[in-house]
Amino acid sequence: MLKNKKTVMALSLLPQYLLIRLAAAHPEFVEQYYSNGVYQWVSKLFRYVLGWLPFSFGDLVYAFGILYMIRWFYKNRKRLRKDTKRWFVDVLAAAAVIYFAFHILWGFNYYRLPLHASLGLQADYTTEQLVNVTNKLIIRANSMHAKVSENDTLKVVIPYHKRAIMQRAPKGYDNLKQVFPHLEYHPKSIKKSLFSYPLTYMGFSGYLNPLTNEAHVDALIPAYKFPTTSSHEIAHQLGYAAENEANFIAFLAATNHDDIYFNYSGYAFGLRFCLNEIYNRDPCLFEDMVADVNLGILKNYDEVRSFWVAHQNPVEPYFKSFYSNFLKANKQDKGMESYNYVVALLVNYFESKTF
Ligand SMILES: [Zn+2]
Repeated sequence: MLKNKKTVMALSLLPQYLLIRLAAAHPEFVEQYYSNGVYQWVSKLFRYVLGWLPFSFGDLVYAFGILYMIRWFYKNRKRLRKDTKRWFVDVLAAAAVIYFAFHILWGFNYYRLPLHASLGLQADYTTEQLVNVTNKLIIRANSMHAKVSENDTLKVVIPYHKRAIMQRAPKGYDNLKQVFPHLEYHPKSIKKSLFSYPLTYMGFSGYLNPLTNEAHVDALIPAYKFPTTSSHEIAHQLGYAAENEANFIAFLAATNHDDIYFNYSGYAFGLRFCLNEIYNRDPCLFEDMVADVNLGILKNYDEVRSFWVAHQNPVEPYFKSFYSNFLKANKQDKGMESYNYVVALLVNYFESKTF
């Protein structure tokens, strides 16, 4: 009986896969019934149950899961030859459960409408528009920098503990929900990762556990990154799976926050994407424009860059390419490059804004 059940579970991978392909072809349906329907309930339930715990429950699940898998493969290593068929049924049945849980609890969000479509923004922009918005962001970032720094050559040091920054991040969403009701964030569930060391060496500053709906920030990254990274992970938690969209929403949440350090971190974050894109298009223009940015802001950028350089190692590219392929498998065609697509959202959103 149990054996039959396992076979059925293993075979369910195929219809599951087809169902997901079908969902991928109908983003309006996913947007309405999953992202703004089922997911809202499921994610809130998990955040109510686990959000109050001061540590990451999901990290313990991961640790236990990995140990269990290693033990299982070790104990069943001989079966692979002697009982090959059932060995594969066992493995595929387990994979089917994880695949199902991943999609129901979070993964379908990869197939929702693109954010520019739900916000009514264009997806394209010209270099002229990009320069215009970048100039606005330079003015804004410089003025925030001037408010929190005594001198335009000093990098900003956020005077709060990292945990306090993380706990304050939801406030930006409180302000944002006046304009975008979809971005209401309650209850919260944001934690430092128990695996911050390995995470740093893998090259990731945070992640959302799709099975427990807990958002995690790498505890080791510079405090200056905490406002935007916390806000980015919250955006994932709200069901914005795409990296570019989570970055754009993080920018909005940090720049709409009541706290000036969040505002600074947010504007500097958005500006960096735009400057990178200017550099891609015209390095000479980049040199001209970057000369207008306060030296202290560039020092904050450098602080982050140095942090990642210091933790570079031979295996990091493998994790990055694994994640990139994971995104591609989930219909994020550009993989990790889609991080830069945030510029299109920034430009189209800010074009009409006057500062
Ligand atoms: Zn992300």
